[in-house]
Amino acid sequence: MTRKDVPDSEKYECYRSRLNGVISTSFSKKRILVIGTGAGSIMCINLARQMPAKLTLVDFDEVELHNLSRTAFGYSDIGKKKVNALKERILDANPFISVECVDYDVTSLDNKKMDFLFDVDMIIAGTDSAKAQRFINEKSLHYQVPAIFIGIHQRGRGGRITFVEPGQACYRCIRPDRYEEDLEQELDLNGETGSLSSCQLIDNLAMDILISFLEKNENSEFGGKWDLTYKNSNDFEIQLSHMSELEATFDVIHDSAQHVDQNHRQELDKLFAGPRIITYQEPKKEDCPCCSSVEMENLLLR
Ligand SMILES: [Zn+2]
Repeated sequence: MTRKDVPDSEKYECYRSRLNGVISTSFSKKRILVIGTGAGSIMCINLARQMPAKLTLVDFDEVELHNLSRTAFGYSDIGKKKVNALKERILDANPFISVECVDYDVTSLDNKKMDFLFDVDMIIAGTDSAKAQRFINEKSLHYQVPAIFIGIHQRGRGGRITFVEPGQACYRCIRPDRYEEDLEQELDLNGETGSLSSCQLIDNLAMDILISFLEKNENSEFGGKWDLTYKNSNDFEIQLSHMSELEATFDVIHDSAQHVDQNHRQELDKLFAGPRIITYQEPKKEDCPCCSSVEMENLLLR
């Protein structure tokens, strides 16, 4: 059936017909907050096609020429706010979704506006700024909303996906090294080089993980994936290149926690067996300065 043949009343059902049995209709009630929309812009459009109810896009950057090599933006978007340019492209991909744009720094919002912003079912942290990640961890705990943190490693050699589920280990428990990065250090995801293919492999895995979480217990193809495919893992290290060990702090040759010595190049190349995902199930730390029971009591009283 061509687009013109479909009566308005049936367009919504026609659009989602290829999702039937794969993603439940309850997914169409989910609202997702995306903080940082540059590198993740293609994922946002892909996610919109899966028909959640609403995407809220947060980013105060404008589209620049150097963004085009690995984002959803086009030449005509240069100079526009990323959120506005992305909204247009999302609505073209799926006109049945609601998109809200926030083009300012959300860390300074008052409590009422913060309550409204974080009244969602999932937070996607598409920023590699350690400061922003700390802010998102705090809000995820305060509002009891799951959050997925996506990071691409240098030159797209690999990446890291960290998933924070309310009541379980927080971002600080899972990635203490990353959380405690110097307050002034701002690692801009867009500043990191990497190919579109590497970024998309990582982003698409993140999308699969977050849909699996939102679909858990639903009668759909995604319904059992959270428990049976992802096994409640909360940290995913993705190695896409034989060079990926250079991003790790674990020396596979010496089996010790120290930076990999580049002199082991030949041995490392032999050890690499192909692109792989290493999963971790990091426990909640009872004395965590962010999510311990004492801290959570204080946080929820605020
Ligand atoms: Zn914690």
